[in-house]
Amino acid sequence: MPFADRLNNVETSAIRELFKLLGKPGIISFAGGFPDSAMFDVEGIREASQLALSQDPGSALQYGATEGYNPLREQIASFMAHKGAADVKPEGLIVTTGSQQALDLLGKTMIGPGDKVIVEGPTFLATIQCFRLYGAEIISAPIDADGVRTDVLEALIAEHKPKFVYLIPTFGNPSGATLSMARRKKVLELAVQYQTLVMEDDPYGDLYFDEAPPPSLLALSAGVPGSRQWLAHCGSLSKVLSPGLRVGWMIGPEELLAKATMCKQFSDAHTSTFAQATAAQYLKAGRMPGTLAKVRQVYAERARTMGRALKKELGDAITFTQPGGGLFFWASLTGAHGKVDDGAVLAKRAIEKGVAFVPGAPFYAANPDHSTLRLSFATADVAKIEEGVARLAAAL
Ligand code: PMP
Repeated sequence: MPFADRLNNVETSAIRELFKLLGKPGIISFAGGFPDSAMFDVEGIREASQLALSQDPGSALQYGATEGYNPLREQIASFMAHKGAADVKPEGLIVTTGSQQALDLLGKTMIGPGDKVIVEGPTFLATIQCFRLYGAEIISAPIDADGVRTDVLEALIAEHKPKFVYLIPTFGNPSGATLSMARRKKVLELAVQYQTLVMEDDPYGDLYFDEAPPPSLLALSAGVPGSRQWLAHCGSLSKVLSPGLRVGWMIGPEELLAKATMCKQFSDAHTSTFAQATAAQYLKAGRMPGTLAKVRQVYAERARTMGRALKKELGDAITFTQPGGGLFFWASLTGAHGKVDDGAVLAKRAIEKGVAFVPGAPFYAANPDHSTLRLSFATADVAKIEEGVARLAAAL
């Protein structure tokens, strides 16, 4: 078929290829980026969907506004207010079909062939692919345990004058890293100083374990004059409630939201009204705090188990920072004692031993670190995590 040239910029990800192997019976998977389906609040969602149908069936089943279902926009604005972004108005956000669509709309509205975009190295793979599809030249800013290195970021912004900077500041995927408070302020100042849009992608900020992370860039922007004009933010119910609902949102400057809404019109017209009405009823019923408390507790225990097991079973063959939230361990193979030091090689051997994870290299837009790997602790219970890590050690 005479496919469009833009497809030459992207390829099926190595990770997707690996997922094909996951069907093998008995495999313990640390590979996915999914929440645990056993933790879905089925009862709460059932009640919410019934209320959506009984209270406002006309809206829940009809075409709706591209910007989103107003009762949901109101609920999301108040959800954001609870998280410190008190000045977000319902009309200052649009509902998107997952936050993935917010990222796609950002790409569609901002990126032309050859435009430069800065992302973290490593970052969310689907975003790299999405921005490449629009022809972006992607520049990678390194991270450390405190998130993106703002000194390097500043130099890259000054040199490349990117269309925007894309960051996952809190419990990043795949890095698990969280941007420090000082660096958060610096990012906002850089946005103003260089008049460069920053997109904050925040699907994991609510999934913290012991202590809450620093406030989002969005919440902090009130204290940095002029920064709101250069800041966009996307959020999602996927990791905390249900990815199948496909409810996400985008907050940003009015002119960006207007263009994104126009592009969304040609794309899916609007996010499922039934899903939106269900989500609105769910949030209105006040169930979210209880749901968050439960998932935080379960994931915290799994993360502690994985950290302990990795130390015990893999010892100095691996280094990692214990994550304070999110879904992932990001680790590096050291090659100590002649053990495997390449994540992709270990991934193949691990499948043979009955455990799956994803190698880290594909998460880099440039200069991949082949020693890295991403392990999700979200979907396996404590016993499976221990068994899976033991199998991983056997594959080394
Ligand atoms: N951003 C990041 C960093 C993610 O990890 C994901 C999901 N893996 C998304 C966005 C998209 O999530 P959704 O479209 O389900 O909201």
